[in-house]
Amino acid sequence: NHGIGSWPARQARSRPGAAAVVHRDRTRSYAELAGRAQAVARLLLDLGVERGDRVAYLGPNHPGFLATLFGAGLAGAVFVPLNTRHSDAELAFALRDADAAVLVHDPRHAASARALATGGLRTVDVAELDGLPGGEPVDEPVDLDDLAMILYTSGTTGRPKGAMLTHGNLTWNALNVLVDVDITSEEVTLVSAPLFHTAALGMTCLPTLLKGGAVLLEESFDPDRTLDLVERHRVTCLFGVPTMFDALSRSARWAEADLGSVRFLLCGGAPVPPDLLRRYRARGLAIRQGYGLTEASPSVLLQPQGDERVGSAGAPAFFTDVRLRTPEGQPPEPGAPGELQVRGANVVRGYWQRPDADPRTADGWLRTGDVATADDDGHYRVVDRLKDMFISGGENVYPAEVEAVLREHPGVVDAAVVGLPDPVWGETGRAVVVARPGVTERELLDFARERLAGYKVPKSVRFADALPRNPTGKLDKRALREQEG
Ligand code: AMP
Ligand code: MG
Repeated sequence: NHGIGSWPARQARSRPGAAAVVHRDRTRSYAELAGRAQAVARLLLDLGVERGDRVAYLGPNHPGFLATLFGAGLAGAVFVPLNTRHSDAELAFALRDADAAVLVHDPRHAASARALATGGLRTVDVAELDGLPGGEPVDEPVDLDDLAMILYTSGTTGRPKGAMLTHGNLTWNALNVLVDVDITSEEVTLVSAPLFHTAALGMTCLPTLLKGGAVLLEESFDPDRTLDLVERHRVTCLFGVPTMFDALSRSARWAEADLGSVRFLLCGGAPVPPDLLRRYRARGLAIRQGYGLTEASPSVLLQPQGDERVGSAGAPAFFTDVRLRTPEGQPPEPGAPGELQVRGANVVRGYWQRPDADPRTADGWLRTGDVATADDDGHYRVVDRLKDMFISGGENVYPAEVEAVLREHPGVVDAAVVGLPDPVWGETGRAVVVARPGVTERELLDFARERLAGYKVPKSVRFADALPRNPTGKLDKRALREQEG
């Protein structure tokens, strides 16, 4: 087994007692993590899970998340982490689409899990994983081309799609990160961004575990607590989205907190405001900006250590190739923008059961839907998006999905959603709605809240007589953004 499921046991061969996972002041060694993964693998096989079957996980960051990820890997099963912010309707869609055999869930999601457990789906409370006996060792053949994970991402059309990440994708991504970031077995990496996104998992958690360092798992991000943890655990490495780094720097404790242990601050997932970089620099801390996406497992660009450029997303990861293309498929003039396209062993092969939705160009490059320019030394700046998407606190919102839900409301004739700048979240949604008389903002927002994750629900609704459309009848989002902004 050369899959990621084998990593804890490989680490434990030479360093069984080294700290692997710290959670709520309890430290688990590599030997313990390997033991838990083995026990989960045994449980899955006993539940009838077969090679390639899907095992879903619903819960915040917890050692059980990693035990299930690695355990599923050992058993040859495919791990499907679910977004805890999603509504039951969104979770039900993912479980059905993935045809999951088992759902491992946090105790706080027991009610959701019961409601979702239809058909043959078996549910397991993560609290039960701690007491599991090891049982007969599991040794399924798994190689790098086998599927390791399915991650659901929304898109500009229709329902979310499951990006298929292989063991090889995750391994090459971790190696890419380790070429650029000198993570060692002495690392103490704080993981407080949710592990169900590839950003936290791929940028720091898996690379740290591949090197035999320790990951400190936090269930959620809180600025004051983060500063306490950095001091108490002498944290050396930290990944976050811009909203998190912004909140940290606005904490009352920011000025006096001892951040002397920190070696790496990695920030990405959304554009990093220049002012944020300056605030950290004034405190003697360098933030390294990066760019990635789920379909690249996720790392594509990362700013090298010591690079002081503001507004850069960095240079391509070591084993990854990047190019820019105009809408006509040609390289743009030097310095001019083009769609960022990506090729490499970290790029997924496609979407689960959606051969119609290949994210690649005819010549095999991943289309990101993001627009970048190149500096003359091969560093890139992300300057625009082709896809109709905005990012709220690090979570992507696809207006098409929100508009479809609003249009389901019987009182709504037409609806459009745009992202508007927000000082805290980066962007938040505004719905512009053509409605029948009597429909209220409150009623529409409640309707959306029942069907969508909170971060997708618009902050406000404006009622209008008509929506701006271009001559082909398509919503004119640019005009709408200007009108609303
Ligand atoms: P996801 O599908 O959740 O993996 O989100 C990936 C998307 O986040 C990318 O396609 C970009 O649109 C956006 N993104 C990630 N990093 C950056 C960055 N450094 N600057 C601008 N946008 C980013
Ligand atoms: Mg993202």
